[in-house]
Amino acid sequence: MRMDTDLRKILDRVTKGKRLNADEGLALFRKADLLTLGELANGARKRLHPERLVTFIVDRNINYTNICVNKCKFCAFYREANSPEAYILSNEEIFKKIEETLALGGTQILLQGGVHPDLGIEYFEDLFSSIKTRFTIQVHALSPSEITYIAKKADMSVQETLNRLRTAGLDSIPGGGAEILVDRVRKKVSPNKIRWRQWADVMTEAHKLGMPTSATMMFGSLETDKEIIEHLVRLRDVQDSTRGFTAFIPWTYQPGNTELGGRSATGVEYLKVLALSRIMLDNFDNIQASWVTQGAKIAQVALEFGANDFGSTMIEENVVAAAGVTFRMTRQEIVNLIQDAGYAAAQRDTTYHILKRE
Ligand code: SF4
Repeated sequence: MRMDTDLRKILDRVTKGKRLNADEGLALFRKADLLTLGELANGARKRLHPERLVTFIVDRNINYTNICVNKCKFCAFYREANSPEAYILSNEEIFKKIEETLALGGTQILLQGGVHPDLGIEYFEDLFSSIKTRFTIQVHALSPSEITYIAKKADMSVQETLNRLRTAGLDSIPGGGAEILVDRVRKKVSPNKIRWRQWADVMTEAHKLGMPTSATMMFGSLETDKEIIEHLVRLRDVQDSTRGFTAFIPWTYQPGNTELGGRSATGVEYLKVLALSRIMLDNFDNIQASWVTQGAKIAQVALEFGANDFGSTMIEENVVAAAGVTFRMTRQEIVNLIQDAGYAAAQRDTTYHILKRE
């Protein structure tokens, strides 16, 4: 079969490690087949990580509340304040979960809500400082949506809010709530949530303060190919100016129990977007495979499609589980999967320093 000349030029640029613009990225995404994308992404990954090593982190997701003002249409996790299933964890319950995490060799807690209407900055300052006086653990907490809400409630700038939270014990910020960083999609799937510019502004402010953050993308709902590219280019632009993103984590929309409904992305769609991400995000060192949404087998294959990290052991996970998807894995299972795929495995910390090789 003859290859389109434009596609051949794009493949040549990627192979030489050159950056693709949005049009080139879109053409590649639409025209290249799965294995071509995988080969290019694997090449890009090998240039950055020549060692056959795959990392993972031991941590726990703690969702301090499921009450949320945003009521995103793709979310199966949130509850109304008057729902019998609504909850807020007490500090003691959170401390117990941290103790269990440390006992399992964990180094981080990923603490996120719900955007609860009554929880102001003082609640979080008290919680973070109480955690820090009791435990040595990375507090990786609050998505840009929560931070924007806390800032608004306190009538403070995002910068001032982040400064206060950091002083209390906030170490780094997870990249959740990015969904697709295009307002056309956000207005449909999460009309009450912050727009893409606010998401990017919180991350930029955090990076300026020296706080590392990750970045995510939830795809497979109702975005177009072009909007996926737009998302990636917007992240790449922020990273060009701040260098504060530690990793990119793409995952697929889980339609179970949601208002939005619809279908799940296939394994092939996931792998193509993962590979495209590695190719487009030439200034991101680390790309995570999402075993939580894809399961162990696709996550193993993802290591040949640009991913160099297996994410977290997820001692606890509630958000994807609420959509009816419950893949669970122990630390040893993750190590076995990485090794069976032909890679060495190593536990890392939040900023990707190696803690222990297996
Ligand atoms: S995705 Fe997050 S912000 Fe949206 S409703 Fe669910 S918990 Fe709230």
